[in-house]
Amino acid sequence: MTGRTGESRARNTELPMLRAYRLWFEHTKRCADCKGRPKAQDGCETGRELWGAYRLVRIGRTP
Ligand SMILES: [Zn+2]
Repeated sequence: MTGRTGESRARNTELPMLRAYRLWFEHTKRCADCKGRPKAQDGCETGRELWGAYRLVRIGRTP
């Protein structure tokens, strides 16, 4: 039983993380302000919000 909680937790965060990343990635392809920016923080407000949501999921702090 030891370690099962950690394993299932890692699995549960994987999909939301990929989903959040894809939302941001697809936005950068459509948005002229975010397209080609080396850093997500240099994008528009929506782009920064999507990137911020991805980072929160990645560190395990789902809003
Ligand atoms: Zn944008």
